[in-house]
Amino acid sequence: MIHKVLVANRGEIAVRVIRTCREMGLRTVAIYSTLDKDSMHVRMADQSVCVGPPPSAESYLNVPSILSAIEITDSDSVHPGYGFLAENPAFAEICENYGVKFIGPSSECIRLMGDKIEARRAMRKVRVPTVPGSDGAITDEEEGLRISKGIGFPVIIKAAAGGGGRGMKIVHSPASFVNAFLTAQSESLSAFGVPDVYIEKYFEHARHVEVQVIGDKFGNVIHLGDRDCSVQRRHQKLIEEAPAPFIPARVRKRIHKAAVDGAAAVRYNNVGTVEFLYISEGEFYFLEMNTRIQVEHPVTEMITGIDIVREQIRIADGKKLRVDQKGVQFRGHSIECRINAEDPETFTPSPGLINSCVFPGGFGIRVDTGIYPGYTVPPTYDSLLGKLVVHGDDRNEAIMRMRRALEETRIEGVKTSIDFHKKLMMDSDFTEGRLWTKFVEKRA
Ligand code: ADP
Repeated sequence: MIHKVLVANRGEIAVRVIRTCREMGLRTVAIYSTLDKDSMHVRMADQSVCVGPPPSAESYLNVPSILSAIEITDSDSVHPGYGFLAENPAFAEICENYGVKFIGPSSECIRLMGDKIEARRAMRKVRVPTVPGSDGAITDEEEGLRISKGIGFPVIIKAAAGGGGRGMKIVHSPASFVNAFLTAQSESLSAFGVPDVYIEKYFEHARHVEVQVIGDKFGNVIHLGDRDCSVQRRHQKLIEEAPAPFIPARVRKRIHKAAVDGAAAVRYNNVGTVEFLYISEGEFYFLEMNTRIQVEHPVTEMITGIDIVREQIRIADGKKLRVDQKGVQFRGHSIECRINAEDPETFTPSPGLINSCVFPGGFGIRVDTGIYPGYTVPPTYDSLLGKLVVHGDDRNEAIMRMRRALEETRIEGVKTSIDFHKKLMMDSDFTEGRLWTKFVEKRA
């Protein structure tokens, strides 16, 4: 039985996980780098252990140090959050071997889905449509060019081990292919340790639609509906909403079924996200599966009333799913705005001291953050300060509520993306649902 959870992360997600642990009556252990000693997650946990100096490689990614923290605090489980070690199969495997419960899927699932080429194969086997492209890894540039001509330009070259929007190259014409291919290979090798790349058709006018799934260790898999995450910049999500708007009911059903079939096929056994490119009514393709909690999970929690972190912990503890598909009730509409410490025009990071901050409140509002007045945002980690999440009866009400929430929010000391979100919530393309993944870049 899980009694004590070591949270191997920082920032808003560490705070988020600690909150649910507390509600479940579980003890919590925070880890932190020397730079994070005054962080909110450290203050909130029952215990805390410093795992190293500021660079992530020496602290939040330092496996020996984290294992020692697990041992000295007698933790029986570890929640990886997102990023850092969340999708590292070797870490999950070490935990499994040490008898420490890894709060996520099995290392086997993480390994399989972490290889995007293998993941595509696994999906195709159960007839989940994948983005048209190469069958496996392409090692030869001439072969790559031939395949790309067959698919038709533009194409996107992707690192098999890529993630977080990194390791992708869009190629518009045969003339620029070879160069882009060789660069993609060498970048993949240096960033991810493997040179394997594959090729997909590049869809300019696509939406990013994903499905939250949950599976337990008894073979039960259900979905918690979908989200739209098309408002992105450089493949990084900025706004997410649930449900994904303007999708006909029968197509939505097919997307849900594809996600559940895909997850069931790999015996997926925790919470995960199956991502799709949605091209048009009836046309959608599997992109990849994320084997962790997502930044945007709160919008799904808002429309289902299900605490996804609680489910993660229960499943890791060997419990059965508490609800079946029919038991999942969807209500209303939810939107999340990611508040980053960055210039709203140029998107460059803006670390520094938070002199003051006031967050919104009232009906239908949720704020997940790790900042407080007097906190210094370090330049070392990602720039996410927190997430503003609203719930409304429908999408229009959620947009009105988000406008109000953004008006109430005051963060002084660092530049933030709040003004960007304010503009976006007034933009008729957004409010009327003309969403696509180039939404932000094509108007900048
Ligand atoms: P990552 O693992 O780095 O997040 P994904 O494969 O999930 O990579 O892709 C991230 C984003 O890149 C997608 O949300 C989408 O905006 C864009 N993208 C990826 N593949 C394609 C494609 N074939 N056509 C158009 N856009 C794509």
